[in-house]
Amino acid sequence: MPLARVTLQPGREKSLAQRHPWVFSGSIATVDGAPAAGDTVLLHASDGTPLASAAWSPESKIRARVWSFDPHEDIDAAFFTGRVGSAVRVRDELLDSTHNACRLIHGESDGLPGFAADRYQDVVVVQIFAAGAERWRGALIDALAEATGCSAIYERSNVDVRTLEGLAPREGPVRGTTPPRVKIAEDGLNFIVDIAHGQKTGFYLDQRNNRKRVRALASNRDVLNCFCYTGGFTIAALAGGARSVLSIDSSAEALSLATENVAANAFDPARAEWRDADVFSELRKLRDAARAFDLIVLDPPKFAPTAQHAEKAARAYKDVNLLALKLLRPGGLLATFSCSGGISAELFQKIVAGAALDAQANAVVVERFAASPDHPVALNFPQGDYLKGLLVRKNA
Ligand code: SAH
Repeated sequence: MPLARVTLQPGREKSLAQRHPWVFSGSIATVDGAPAAGDTVLLHASDGTPLASAAWSPESKIRARVWSFDPHEDIDAAFFTGRVGSAVRVRDELLDSTHNACRLIHGESDGLPGFAADRYQDVVVVQIFAAGAERWRGALIDALAEATGCSAIYERSNVDVRTLEGLAPREGPVRGTTPPRVKIAEDGLNFIVDIAHGQKTGFYLDQRNNRKRVRALASNRDVLNCFCYTGGFTIAALAGGARSVLSIDSSAEALSLATENVAANAFDPARAEWRDADVFSELRKLRDAARAFDLIVLDPPKFAPTAQHAEKAARAYKDVNLLALKLLRPGGLLATFSCSGGISAELFQKIVAGAALDAQANAVVVERFAASPDHPVALNFPQGDYLKGLLVRKNA
């Protein structure tokens, strides 16, 4: 059967010429054929020039996601074996005996729109976000099993964005037997990952290098870790010789795993204090109790998934940064992050600047953070650049 032919409106081939992989519904002039969800279609410019092959998402505003900018390349199981194989190979150098967890496939930035895979020791956890990846699920999973040699593959496609694609949530073991929890090593530190119930695929791998940086900065400091999840930055700070670490999260399950992680690294539990609370109100309580810290980490959840949520999110980011800057001792450091796609690095810096102004803090940016190298950002896909952070020093 010939592939359906999708022709773009005049002028709308521009973003494809720049190799951006998304085609929005409004850019499409005509569809010849009746492609079903996930079918491969051929994208043509308005003058009939073939441009790319793409996965068809009839229910989504992102109506097509490009598999290949070579319209003559076959999209078949061998295509996915190739793409998955190259993505897994470039991660090899990130793994060694002290570190056995990383993102293997990072969607669009690895040429596989709508697909993510994380490796935790010998287990691979996959997430499928779009109709095209759903259609090729079997081929993608076969390719991952072959490229990694991992016998256990688990699926956590229980993400809201699937509803935009008309896909139902799906989770559970896909291959082999997955233990519900896996113990991983991150730069020599131990973490228990709850594959079945944890957030995302179980662990925030994107913060690896930033946790390493916080570890290097923590010596002899009183640390406050806000939105601590299972204690990633807490464990890093304890390993770096922090005097004390107070960690806050509103998830009791995450905190329970966090205390297990302290034990898994044989740290003195007396150096770690935990609060199961809303960060916004807890920071006000700490302020009222005149508590002060030398190093504060703020790693909130995605307040602005898209630019439409930016204004409300900006207020939340400003509020939490303002409170943190007030709790910081003179000379102290604030490692502050945003993983919101809708907030650019430039806007984030403006928000933190506004917070410093209102906190009457003389603050300077001393470093900038991004996601770790296993989360690459394809230059043709700036949307992939979601995680940004600043290391701010509050001058005396
Ligand atoms: N820094 C962590 C990841 C943070 S993810 C790491 O390195 O692993 C964001 C966390 O914020 C989640 O654990 C979530 O439970 C928590 N959270 C979300 N909203 C919150 C709120 N208002 N108060 C406290 N915690 C919150």
